[in-house]
Amino acid sequence: MDQLVKPHGREKKLMPLLLKGGELKEERKRAASLKRFAMTSRETGDAIMMGIGGFTPLEGFMTGEDWKGVCKDMAMSDGTFWPIPVTISVSEEDAATIKDGDDITLVDAETGTDMAIMTVRDRYTIDRELECKEVFRTTDPEHPGVAMVMSQKAINLGGPIRVLSESYFPEEFEGVYMRPAESRKLFNERGWKTVAALQLRNPMHRSHEYLAKIALETLDGLFIHQLVGKLKPGDIPADVRVKCIDMLVENYFVKDSVIQGGYPLDMRYAGPREALLHAVFRQNYGCSHLIVGRDHAGVGSYYGPFDAQEIFEEIPAGSLETKPLKIDWTFYCYKCRGMASMKTCPHGKEDRLLLSGTVLRKTLSEGGDPPEDFSRPEVLEILKAYYAGLEEKVEVKLHHAATGA
Ligand SMILES: [Zn+2]
Repeated sequence: MDQLVKPHGREKKLMPLLLKGGELKEERKRAASLKRFAMTSRETGDAIMMGIGGFTPLEGFMTGEDWKGVCKDMAMSDGTFWPIPVTISVSEEDAATIKDGDDITLVDAETGTDMAIMTVRDRYTIDRELECKEVFRTTDPEHPGVAMVMSQKAINLGGPIRVLSESYFPEEFEGVYMRPAESRKLFNERGWKTVAALQLRNPMHRSHEYLAKIALETLDGLFIHQLVGKLKPGDIPADVRVKCIDMLVENYFVKDSVIQGGYPLDMRYAGPREALLHAVFRQNYGCSHLIVGRDHAGVGSYYGPFDAQEIFEEIPAGSLETKPLKIDWTFYCYKCRGMASMKTCPHGKEDRLLLSGTVLRKTLSEGGDPPEDFSRPEVLEILKAYYAGLEEKVEVKLHHAATGA
């Protein structure tokens, strides 16, 4: 019996917008005859998430009214909780060629793949600064999420979509890329009721392993769910991260207690608001809990270390079934002789191995040896091989907040 959390939205069922069989064939043919508009990588990722039901109950890109409600109150016009705008934009000239009610084809600019047919119901301009202020809590153009919004085209289009493709994700990330119906099936097969999602976009180090094991002490299973969409330059590619996770799971976790999956979104780096989005789609994937550690989905020092935990207390009760598993900053402590957190270790900074992923990347990219106890040797070996194979050295920028100072 399915005892998992129900998908997000009133219907409480997955609503994948990806077409199948004969209908897919027909619509692909029709797509070729429609006006075509390019989608950015972020827009493509969002369309695929709607396609596979990860963004249930969204039926397409948001209308002006939904955009406004989501920015200001995290609510769609029908009252559905949603924390981040899911929008698509075109140039003014392009918008002028579209009439309300028109069907258009949305094409992934990177691969040229026809991704979706959209029925345009709304064309609107947005106050980008307002979106940035509400969603990212900053309008600083250096913030990568802000930069993405500020570089959008002039007119947003709203309306339902029918998804035609998942692009290269199923092939390129075979065995990792996962649809919500698939993760739910796997969880059910194992008889899991409570499942913690561990969000990852960096290689999995001992601090992540510790977070995962805290969750496993009390819940039925763990879903290591990592982003296979786009990151910042200098971040470690998904295939390398997948290898690291496989190695860790194989050597350091109880058999069958972990399932690994990937999802096709780009990072927005919206910190607290993105943590909520992470919880929304983990609910669709069947996870009862989302592990929220220090500076979840943050970048630089735009957010307080626990803003992403606190925002869960600020949303209306009943917004989400999936709950945050809030865990303090974790590290190896030489006096505790083990992993601990600020909540459980009474010792001082000098006794703790405090090293952010950013500092580690810097050490590795410069050919250095990261300290023992930070990462499992099997994982470090994979990372070292990756850096040694890089043609061009990546320069890793250090942020003040990432040094643990
Ligand atoms: Zn300690």
